[in-house]
Amino acid sequence: MLLTRRLLLVSRCCRLNSHRSALFSASLRSAHVDASFSSAMAAAASDARFCGEIFLFFVLFCSVARTTRSGERVARTTRSGERVARTTRSGERVARTTRSGERVARTTRSLSQPFNLSPRAHPSLLPSHLHQPPKHLTDIGANLCDPMFQGCYGGKTYHEPDLSSVLLRAERAGVGKIIVTAGSLPESEEALEMVVCSSSSSSSPVELFCSAGVHPTRAGELVVKKEGEGGSEEEEERTLNAAAVTRLRSLLEKGFNKSSNPSGKLVALGETGLDYARLQFSDPETQKLAFDSQLDLAAELGGRVPLFLHLRDAGEDFVSLLSKPRFNRADPSSSSPVTLRGVVHSFDGGVELMTRLLGLENRDLFVGFNGCSLREESGLEAARRVPLDRLLLETDAPWCDLRPTHASAVQNGFNLKDFDAANGVVWKDKKKISEDDFASGKNVLIKGRNEPCRIAAVAAAVAAARGCSVEEVARAAWENSERLFFGGGGG
Ligand SMILES: [Zn+2]
Repeated sequence: MLLTRRLLLVSRCCRLNSHRSALFSASLRSAHVDASFSSAMAAAASDARFCGEIFLFFVLFCSVARTTRSGERVARTTRSGERVARTTRSGERVARTTRSGERVARTTRSLSQPFNLSPRAHPSLLPSHLHQPPKHLTDIGANLCDPMFQGCYGGKTYHEPDLSSVLLRAERAGVGKIIVTAGSLPESEEALEMVVCSSSSSSSPVELFCSAGVHPTRAGELVVKKEGEGGSEEEEERTLNAAAVTRLRSLLEKGFNKSSNPSGKLVALGETGLDYARLQFSDPETQKLAFDSQLDLAAELGGRVPLFLHLRDAGEDFVSLLSKPRFNRADPSSSSPVTLRGVVHSFDGGVELMTRLLGLENRDLFVGFNGCSLREESGLEAARRVPLDRLLLETDAPWCDLRPTHASAVQNGFNLKDFDAANGVVWKDKKKISEDDFASGKNVLIKGRNEPCRIAAVAAAVAAARGCSVEEVARAAWENSERLFFGGGGG
């Protein structure tokens, strides 16, 4: 019932919002165009005066653009009264040529076209390539089944479900695909149902896929404990919960069987792995048993299933279990070990561990970066050193956001605050969120809750660390995600 209501909301809200959000998006970009153009003209004016080129007529103007609630644009030219900005009905471009021959062009009505400025035109946003969202992004890990997207935080409800607004923002930020992460058996079933329904009802502006698996903190789901003679936890005997393993196997088989699941919405086994940073939820022995059994399941499926791997403070055991040769027990005719593929997501293990993982024999691994990965300088170094053909991007929403206190926030030309300002991001407390914040399709984000649209900022932070363009990083990550999860060669 809950899920049906959630999907209905997604569907209904998406339809209602699409028109208004398009208007808002257009007006937002319009405001950027004006601000950028004003600076461009101011820079050109200064240049002209300095060189004494008096034959060049020039107009000093100030264009003030205001975006009203309804998305209308109000433009005023001052001083000489000359109009520099002209909005025509047909969407014509108005171009002016400055002394140096540089052409500053502005698109008026046709706001969908890319807008280019000379790099010196807008010094406050330089380097501009670090503050503009790229075009194609896949968020390989977002926990969209989390109650926060239903407005519920720590068991208390603060606002209406807003998944539809979250998905619209993701689409506007350039996100084309999201893999919904699942971390338990019920969540795996819920995630699959959600993405299949979103696809058949076309209720999501972003293509949704999902994973199925058991997170190390919930490893107990796959394990049965029997008390030992001494009664202490260490002496407890652990065995696999056969019924739970069968439930996961049948979900994976159903999901990966193209004839029974032609939608192909289940694209990964996970989250699975080890997390020794949160042993209060699951002890290491239980975690190892559950991880081992899920790796066996991946081998049973012939390595077709990409793994979505979680690793925290457990490098040695993780490498040891992952590198163990695995055979397809379901196929007696196959005698050679299976090659396992996957991504070590939310990676924060440093360059040395990353190099070990990428060098494992019979393993085809990628490394996923999000806000948590880039918290420390060592994480930035890993993002700098990861081969471009092994890089993936994610948000791990609603967790692992980029924060102003992290090493990634101000580095190598990237500034998180500038990025947010350039993209019209407004942060609000969950207690102060209003209906209007959702309905208008604004970039109003909730403090402490990460969203898939923030992957654009992750891409920008990684690009800054590597000293390359956001497009280069985004394109590589997109192609890698196609290769790993969607059976494509990218492009
Ligand atoms: Zn994780």
